[in-house]
Amino acid sequence: MNRVRLIIFNAAIGPLDYKVPDGMSVEYGSVVVAPLGPRQIIGIVWEEDRLPGESVAESKLRNIIEVLPVPPLKGDLRRLIEWTADYYCASLVAVARMVIASGGALRGPTKMTEYRLTGTEPERMTPQRAVALDALQNEQATIRELAELASVSDGVLRGLVNQGALEPVEVDIDRPYPRAKADHDQPELSADQEKVADRFVEAVKAREFVPFLLDGVTGSGKTEVYFEPVAAALRDNRQVLVLLPEIALTEAFLRRFEDRFGAAPIVWHSSLKSTERRRAWRAIASGHAQVVVGARSALFLPYANLGLIVVDEAHEISFKQDDGVRYNARDVAVMRARFEKFPIILASATPALESLQMAESGIYERNELPSRFGGATMPSIATINLTENPPERGRWIAPELVEALKDRLEKGEQSLLFLNRRGYAPLTLCRNCGFRFQCNNCSAWLVEHRFSRRLACHHCGHEEEPPETCPECGEPECLVACGPGVERIADEVAEILPEARIAVATSDTLNTPEKAADFVAQAEAKAIDVIVGTQLVTKGFHFPELTLVGVIDADLGLEGGDLRAAERTYQQVAQVAGRAGRGSKPGEVFIQTRHPTEPVIAALEAGDRDAFYTAETEARRSAGAPPFGRWAAIIVSSEDEAEAKEAARAIGGTRPNIQDVMILGPAPAPMALLRGRYRYRLLINARRSAQVQDIIRNWLGTLDFPRGVRVSIDVDPYSF
Ligand code: ADP
Ligand code: ZN
Repeated sequence: MNRVRLIIFNAAIGPLDYKVPDGMSVEYGSVVVAPLGPRQIIGIVWEEDRLPGESVAESKLRNIIEVLPVPPLKGDLRRLIEWTADYYCASLVAVARMVIASGGALRGPTKMTEYRLTGTEPERMTPQRAVALDALQNEQATIRELAELASVSDGVLRGLVNQGALEPVEVDIDRPYPRAKADHDQPELSADQEKVADRFVEAVKAREFVPFLLDGVTGSGKTEVYFEPVAAALRDNRQVLVLLPEIALTEAFLRRFEDRFGAAPIVWHSSLKSTERRRAWRAIASGHAQVVVGARSALFLPYANLGLIVVDEAHEISFKQDDGVRYNARDVAVMRARFEKFPIILASATPALESLQMAESGIYERNELPSRFGGATMPSIATINLTENPPERGRWIAPELVEALKDRLEKGEQSLLFLNRRGYAPLTLCRNCGFRFQCNNCSAWLVEHRFSRRLACHHCGHEEEPPETCPECGEPECLVACGPGVERIADEVAEILPEARIAVATSDTLNTPEKAADFVAQAEAKAIDVIVGTQLVTKGFHFPELTLVGVIDADLGLEGGDLRAAERTYQQVAQVAGRAGRGSKPGEVFIQTRHPTEPVIAALEAGDRDAFYTAETEARRSAGAPPFGRWAAIIVSSEDEAEAKEAARAIGGTRPNIQDVMILGPAPAPMALLRGRYRYRLLINARRSAQVQDIIRNWLGTLDFPRGVRVSIDVDPYSF
């Protein structure tokens, strides 16, 4: 090739054409550096005929500067990038950026310098230096990252380097990872498990695209089963990606993986240190990395020879990204498997209705594990009608559940109370004037966190100290907590069972891999009697001594009434119930509710999953909702409310008139103010087969908006 077209991912421009100087060899997918004005850009060589762009005269082209020494992005991956951009109405560049994730992985040396404390005190101590010394115990990272960790400037740390308090450590980016061994410690599978595992292994060996739904009850050993095709891929020298919904889950998973394969997998998530990120990226692209475990962003990495993807807890909504490119990693993973021709396993005890429907229609191959492993039985489930048997005044745990908690403590067994609300109370009032504490940036109440003495917004992360007096009326010590959060439930348990050892498990308390690992170790060692947790504890964990689960408020998720409310409630409660009785002792589950006859609650009590899915399927079918119809949302936002409203109106005013395509709105979005931006929304509901993406592109493509307005498109939105 002597001229190429580039998509450019570190400047908002392009695609642009360049000349390839004599003697330089490039191919499609090559990552190159090229000049743009006085600066340099990084771009990916793309097929010209797939990228509309102006053809520039040969004589005007500038030369490519260099080809970066990383493997070119393969054709299959380029097609995946195009598909994703097309399907989710995103730009090619925005998707490609997720592949290159860390531009740092591409350029520069394969040795990097990190810093760590030497233990020597600096000669001259300043308050900032003291803060840094305190914050950086046991840390090793680049200056930039350490500065961020300690919330000081880079300059403070450079000062500490000069004073000998911080020392450089050379890190080899390309040092190899420990090798996983397919046969390290292979478990004996049950007959049910073996049958399913054999089928997966066969597909891995055949290198054929098969989308599997691994539909197995909680405790059936889904992990053990999908480890077999992982082993098969390892034997075949192909790479494996395991997508997990939470990083809190990773620690428990890593240990199981290491027991099975004799080495830990490579972990990929958004908060990796830059050196670890580069190391992982390069190992993945070179093919050295064997198994990668990651959050959704791991999906777009440039694997050299991927042979299997597993999406564990595939029903989880955290696979859906809700900003930037609004993609669903579960669905894109299936496309990746299809383009690159290998099997994919979607594992869940409570599959999304969409996935079940795909299995029903024969597109996915369903494999079932109908019973728990090792003779453990499914827990018994009962509802507690809060209207008839309410808790004592000012309390949230009903008498029947209180008795059950006492009983478990006496027997030395563990209990788990589930409430999907972080913090102490969802709403904080002034007891004198009724003033409600609200976030300045979002339409949301500030949530009191009593452990950390903070009022926090769960949407933008804003935090403030609780004021001494009411900002409205000046009343001193005025805060009243309204309603329960997990911290308040933990307080109540402490009153009921003063001797119990209680742990609160939420994204606030388990916010690092170490804390999550610590929690799991303590629970396993029976150093915890009662766990009080949010949705974080509904999945993945396996505590054999846990025999009682209490759902504090099963109605919580049903309020608000969004499309997936019933499904989500079913999944959450079924998953948390699935934590009970996984060992030799049977489990018992109590569901507190004000609506015991609601179909979803009744199905949970009866343990009748099919009844729930059948009713939900009919409801969705008659509403034209997914998986039978298609939804898309257009979200218009601006820091200026009038501007946002005006732009949304302009869009609404030019709506196309298409048969069987319903366009609703604009109306204020459910979070009408989010992170300081006012949001309006239009909803599109269409037949499954409608080309909503084309409709949206044609429609919005002709409109111009003021600079402060952002228009984002959400295809297959999760919540609205
Ligand atoms: P699921 O993910 O389906 O809820 P897990 O994979 O967590 O279930 O398995 C439940 C428990 O049973 C785990 O402790 C797991 O190690 C154990 N287990 C499952 N299958 C086997 C097996 N074949 N041999 C030994 N232990 C197993
Ligand atoms: Zn906020």
